[in-house]
Amino acid sequence: MGQTRLHVTASKAEADRIFAALEAAFEDDALPLAVQEIDEDRDLHEVSVYVDGDAASAEARMRAVLAGLGLPGEIGTEVLPDIDWVAKSLEGLKPVRAGRFFVHGAHDRDRRQDGDIAIEIEAGLAFGTGHHGTTAGCLEMLEEVVAAERPRNALDLGTGSAVLAIALAKLAQIPVLATDIDPVATDVAAANARLNGAAALVECITATGFDHPAFAARGPFGLVVANILAGPLIELAPDMARHLKPDGSLVLSGILDRQEEAVLAAYAAAGFRHRRTLHREGWVAIHLKR
Ligand code: SAH
Repeated sequence: MGQTRLHVTASKAEADRIFAALEAAFEDDALPLAVQEIDEDRDLHEVSVYVDGDAASAEARMRAVLAGLGLPGEIGTEVLPDIDWVAKSLEGLKPVRAGRFFVHGAHDRDRRQDGDIAIEIEAGLAFGTGHHGTTAGCLEMLEEVVAAERPRNALDLGTGSAVLAIALAKLAQIPVLATDIDPVATDVAAANARLNGAAALVECITATGFDHPAFAARGPFGLVVANILAGPLIELAPDMARHLKPDGSLVLSGILDRQEEAVLAAYAAAGFRHRRTLHREGWVAIHLKR
């Protein structure tokens, strides 16, 4: 049987009280609870209880809890659709083509074709299976930039699964420093680099922005790619300029179409010229040079 979500709307203060009381009431059943902001201006929050199977008795207990708090709100019910998680996760793992790159899971190894630069990534705890428009945009742009400029070393800042670092190592056979703020991502990145036979070229470290001695030791870089988000990219603009070789190239993504101008302005102020923008599913990948 499927799952039912029981929910009630309240102010933030009330929602917190309801949440605490429901947590105590449903402790033995270990039912998942959630509070979500619905409308900030009107201070509307929704407390939800997720029930497997029979929701009637849980609803009666929830009603009693609300009455006990003197907050007899109306309880809504939503029957959640059954989701086949196996099919769903395999769907997310369909292989992706971007330029010559073929990014795939283990089960699609035999679908590689001659001329592909294959990158095997298992969907896991780190971002970057190639499905996101930002990753695909970066892959395509990196292929062009490498062909035109033949960089001798590279940096992948915000490496996630290391998909871009592995792509660069395989495509250009150059050392790539792959960094991430999240140590879990760095571990996944290192495992993926080994899986793809790229461990000798891809060095994975945990660092926030450029805050690590490895950047000075390995840089300056002929090519830097950073698929993070517009906000941190804007903040990092002056550091990017410092760590890029004078004739090097910078590829940025994680930027929504409407954020492109603000990012370009920040990078212009840091001495970068805009070369090209690639649009993918509402996101942009930007090529810049100093
Ligand atoms: N490069 C991969 C993953 C992009 S997701 C791809 O293109 O698919 C962005 C990654 O950047 C996340 O793993 C996140 O942990 C990391 N990140 C976010 N802010 C960062 C920062 N300031 N410094 C380093 N890494 C950061």
